[in-house]
Amino acid sequence: MSLLSVIVPCYNEEENIALFYEELIRNTGFLAEHHMELEVVYVDDGSRDGTVSEVKKLREKDERVHLVSFSRNFGKEAAMFAGLENCDGEYVVIMDVDLQDPPSLLPEMFSYMREGYDSVATRRVTRKGEPPIRSFFARMFYRLMRRISKTEIVDGARDYRLMTRQMVDAILSMREYNRFTKGIFGWVGFRTKWMEYENVERARGETKWNFWKLFLYSLDGIAAFSTVPLMFASVVGVFFCVVAFLMILFIIVRKLIFGDPVSGWPSLVCIILMTSGVQFFCTGILGQYLAKTYMEVKNRPIYLVREKL
Ligand code: UDP
Ligand code: MG
Repeated sequence: MSLLSVIVPCYNEEENIALFYEELIRNTGFLAEHHMELEVVYVDDGSRDGTVSEVKKLREKDERVHLVSFSRNFGKEAAMFAGLENCDGEYVVIMDVDLQDPPSLLPEMFSYMREGYDSVATRRVTRKGEPPIRSFFARMFYRLMRRISKTEIVDGARDYRLMTRQMVDAILSMREYNRFTKGIFGWVGFRTKWMEYENVERARGETKWNFWKLFLYSLDGIAAFSTVPLMFASVVGVFFCVVAFLMILFIIVRKLIFGDPVSGWPSLVCIILMTSGVQFFCTGILGQYLAKTYMEVKNRPIYLVREKL
């Protein structure tokens, strides 16, 4: 018998725990045909509501339910990593607890694994039910990433993904502190089948992401999977040098012909403002990468466990 591990990151999701479990059980009857067993690893990301006690209730009924509970909120990235580290399955799938990752796709995902894929990933092709501004910026982000990163990061990709043990071990070997799993999945490679589905709205409760959090997360993603912004300063620097050279020529020629060296104060102010603006901007970019490097060098643990069942 081989084992399928389902990893479920949860943060303040008491209403969804049991709902998710029922839906999952309803959709995993097919595992028996493949001679497979199931385990469910709920990772409690430092919830302040009844999430932990809900999971414990399930565990009393069903031994296949496991719990890893964090000492505080470390974020979904850390929760997914903890789940991968604390499961034994030969196959592993990561799913949101709010049923936005429909368990009904699992049988089809498995059929692709049988065809020899190492991983079956999902992407939503619509963003129905999401604020339009958020969708717009999400699209911009993916378009930018495609340009500046060599790692493949797919628009609309979810973290909902079925993987072989081999791929999970590859992901676990990447112990970076600034985690951006969508990039990590692409970076490790392996044969991946993409499945598309229509966006499903969350079962109960509220999303944990606001616009600002998503914006910062996208900066994390850029810093983690591209160094192109660091080149920005050099490119702009060269451009400004060329412009400055042309202007010097222009001024010398004008002086020789018209003999008026003093005019041009406003343009001077504009130039100074603009160049110093660009300099600050570039220093900011450097600072971003320095901060990330600083956090990596500290080598702090990605998460801390308070309780494990
Ligand atoms: N989540 C988490 N830690 C966090 C935020 C979210 O473990 O700090 C979990 C959350 O419980 C859910 C999943 O990550 O299972 C996706 O979160 P959410 O539904 O809020 O994000 P969205 O689907 O809106 O992108
Ligand atoms: Mg959700």
